[in-house]
Amino acid sequence: MAILVTGGAGYIGGTVARSFLSRGEEVVVLDDFSKSLPASVPEGCAFYEGRSDNGELIAKIAKEHEISACLHFAAFIEAGESVKDPYKYFYNNTASSLGLFHALMDAGVKKIVFSSTAAVYGEPKYTPIDEEHPKNPTNPYGLSKLFTEKILETFSASYGIRYAALRYFNACGSDGTGNGEDHHPETHLIPLVLQTAQGIRKQIFIFGDDYPTPDGTCVRDYIHVSDLASAHLAAYDYLMSGSPSVSLNLGNGSGFSVKEVIETARKITGHPIPAETVQRRPGDPSVLVASSEKAGKILGWKPERRSLDEMVASAWEWHKNNPNGYGA
Ligand code: UDP
Repeated sequence: MAILVTGGAGYIGGTVARSFLSRGEEVVVLDDFSKSLPASVPEGCAFYEGRSDNGELIAKIAKEHEISACLHFAAFIEAGESVKDPYKYFYNNTASSLGLFHALMDAGVKKIVFSSTAAVYGEPKYTPIDEEHPKNPTNPYGLSKLFTEKILETFSASYGIRYAALRYFNACGSDGTGNGEDHHPETHLIPLVLQTAQGIRKQIFIFGDDYPTPDGTCVRDYIHVSDLASAHLAAYDYLMSGSPSVSLNLGNGSGFSVKEVIETARKITGHPIPAETVQRRPGDPSVLVASSEKAGKILGWKPERRSLDEMVASAWEWHKNNPNGYGA
């Protein structure tokens, strides 16, 4: 049996694929390199280049491998860009997922682990956010993922597929096996801050310091990518054991502000990391902090690398060793 991983050349998909490979599982990666590079395809997997909604390709993969489940990561992930170009997000994230799910069902694959996001919740009504929290995304990226969750929910009821929608908060860090965060273009806070420490960027721009938070900058729940990987292993085992569809938050339960991230990076890198406050980025909620109690109860999952120091230090390790990312 093989596990199909869409977007497996990406940061989270790649880390998760490596975890499955090191557990001795057969992994098939499907990626179109729209946001990644061939160098980041995990070693030891079977690889296919293409879009995840390419029905013919999915049928071919299913013919060549016995697919037990699909882990669906392939997506665009920039909240700011999604506000400027929502079509791109609805097409690439929602419509593509619809095409993928249809092709999977045609191929008899009925178990799906879906990469969802904290952005499905929007501006928090209370915090920490649990899975029952109202879902009012503040940007089309969050909407594109929420629509996809709704498709899964509907297909689960009508066609008997089973899924685990995993709502990631802010993934960060490196798994220590040579896999790290390298987006093209890079828009995420921790890699941008670390690139500033490396001299690749002159300064980090803080997107707004007038939010209703203790220091005025946005607060996020940063979760180590290796902890996300262990949650995926548990979610896969959960579905394989015949358990019902579920939606789960994956976060570490602590919030850190943009300024705290920059300060931590200064301490860890020893670099002054110049920062300048600019206007807010459209679509950014002020605070996103998870309650992951449900994932703890259902999957027996607990994040292990919870301090900001540890997360930034592990990301820094990768950035130091890979100053040009996967382009080196
Ligand atoms: N952010 C920032 N400057 C940057 C990139 C991000 O101030 O150059 C802020 C952003 O507004 C958000 C937080 O850092 O409040 C985390 O943003 P990121 O894009 O890393 O993840 P997101 O929360 O959008 O998933």
